[in-house]
Amino acid sequence: MDKLISLIRDIPDFPEPGVVFKDITPVLADRDAFSALVDALAAPFRDLGVDKVAGIEARGFTLATPVAERLGAGFIPVRKPGKLPYETVREDYSLEYGTDSLEIHTDAARSGEKVLLVDDVIATGGTAAAAIRLLRKIGAEVVGFSVFIELSFLDGARKLDGVPFHALVTYD
Ligand code: AMP
Repeated sequence: MDKLISLIRDIPDFPEPGVVFKDITPVLADRDAFSALVDALAAPFRDLGVDKVAGIEARGFTLATPVAERLGAGFIPVRKPGKLPYETVREDYSLEYGTDSLEIHTDAARSGEKVLLVDDVIATGGTAAAAIRLLRKIGAEVVGFSVFIELSFLDGARKLDGVPFHALVTYD
């Protein structure tokens, strides 16, 4: 875990002044660190019978897809508007730096399927909360949210509406 933390790169004032961006690309580029990260994200949810893992565009995809494979689960993309080709549902949300919307395919999960949400960073929690609302709209049971980095000073975890939450690294 110390090695993982040492590979997280702080980029001040990106994408706008006042935001310290947590750049995880050095972690992804390191074979051993990347593998350990995927294991650590999957481990707390290994015994829950997860059917599918949902990842949020775009950095969330890089973590959610290998976690899905590790758990023997399928993968669900949660994407920005207009990217998914089939019938979708949409949710609006506010970001640490702006507002946006997310979409999911209406048939991404069957009613009652157990879905684990995975992302790189939780900041204000708006993105994860919107993804949880989308998954619930299509009937999924959201059994957890596994995230690499929590910026706890932004208090995003309180927006998760009771979904069990696990962060590997917390900055406060
Ligand atoms: P939020 O909705 O505020 O919790 O923002 C979470 C989303 O925005 C995640 O998908 C992150 O990829 C991205 N994000 C927000 N703040 C940061 C940050 N300081 N460093 C890196 N990514 C961030």
